[in-house]
Amino acid sequence: MAQPQTEWVPTVDDLKVKLCYICREEDRFDNPEDPPRAWTHPCACTLVAHESCLLQWIKSAQQSSSLNKNALKCPQCGVRYELESDNPLVLRALNALNTLLSNAGQAATIVGCVSLTVSFGFTIYVVATSYGAFAVKEFLGEEMYNLLLTDDPSNFPSAFAHARRASFLKAKDCLGLLHSWLKKRELESRRVKSRSFAGVDISGLELINPPPGLTSGAQAGPA
Ligand SMILES: [Zn+2]
Ligand SMILES: [Zn+2]
Repeated sequence: MAQPQTEWVPTVDDLKVKLCYICREEDRFDNPEDPPRAWTHPCACTLVAHESCLLQWIKSAQQSSSLNKNALKCPQCGVRYELESDNPLVLRALNALNTLLSNAGQAATIVGCVSLTVSFGFTIYVVATSYGAFAVKEFLGEEMYNLLLTDDPSNFPSAFAHARRASFLKAKDCLGLLHSWLKKRELESRRVKSRSFAGVDISGLELINPPPGLTSGAQAGPA
């Protein structure tokens, strides 16, 4: 067993043989991969993986509706992977808004301010296009209406509504573009936090340079 002075805890870099649990490729310390790829030990069991394989797996799992829930969980020990990435507040707000919108679309029970805004906007739009010209004309009188608003009275309110609609759609497009760009940047900046083997039974793993007192096959003590 490990002596009390042995505070040393091995990490993924101390393994003689690393086996990626995703692509099943092996990396031996005496015959390293060329070019080398980063390895990670992301959870509380003995599974290790290429960081790139794990990130790819997480990315695809997050895009699948059935795997999404477990995308960040180790399939063996169930521990949650910790990701580090460039995830600004704007991106989190846009993600939350997206989720809110899709939930509101799916669940009839969630009415909330989103649909209220939409129906209010729709009402304004209908009023502006269908009845706007008539109402304004009734209110102001035809002469005043012509004088104040336009020389083509039947055209003006709907043209105005179309312009507003177009600028709303443009703003939506811009937000969508910003959202995709931030999402792409977040994906590219992702790193998986690698943990030491503290508290993990590594008796089945061979270490490159186990310190005196911790022979290969011993269990690492808690951190
Ligand atoms: Zn791999
Ligand atoms: Zn695990």
